[in-house]
Amino acid sequence: MTWSVAAGPYKLRPMADTIFTKILRGDIPCHKVYEDDRVFAFLDIGPLSFGHTLVIPKEAAATIDQLSDDTAAAIGRVLPRLCRAIKAVTGAEQVNILQNNGPMAHQAVFHVHFHIIPKPSVDRGLVMEWSSTKLDPEEGARLASALSKEIGG
Ligand code: AMP
Repeated sequence: MTWSVAAGPYKLRPMADTIFTKILRGDIPCHKVYEDDRVFAFLDIGPLSFGHTLVIPKEAAATIDQLSDDTAAAIGRVLPRLCRAIKAVTGAEQVNILQNNGPMAHQAVFHVHFHIIPKPSVDRGLVMEWSSTKLDPEEGARLASALSKEIGG
């Protein structure tokens, strides 16, 4: 099942049509950059920098943990190629890839999407605060083990 934001803050409910579903159906226009049988890419309407592109699955999924392995692989295959094209055309030598899941995590459209955001200068493109903390070694060992067990790796 797929989910989207409900009325309350940070609550989720079954996924409805999103603006990206409408773009996929051709109901809303976009500047298309790439398409294959599983993946679609188009220019972001509110670019953080010249060349800001969105890459979305055709599969309906609100957040990345809901995506099938096959679609995830298809996106992973095309992301580097799109980055190469964006770098070549815009002249930007650096890029960020951003993928938000959930309203607190800055997700506004509840259909999985990857932002490819050229970083042409320090003050353009993605500007972020990186408030790092220090990993406690014992807690890290416990956490890594729990995660490894959960994923079966
Ligand atoms: P996020 O905050 O990760 O959910 O990002 C949603 C992105 O979708 C924003 O960068 C918007 O500018 C972009 N966006 C929203 N509507 C459209 C649209 N119709 N065409 C292209 N990009 C859109």
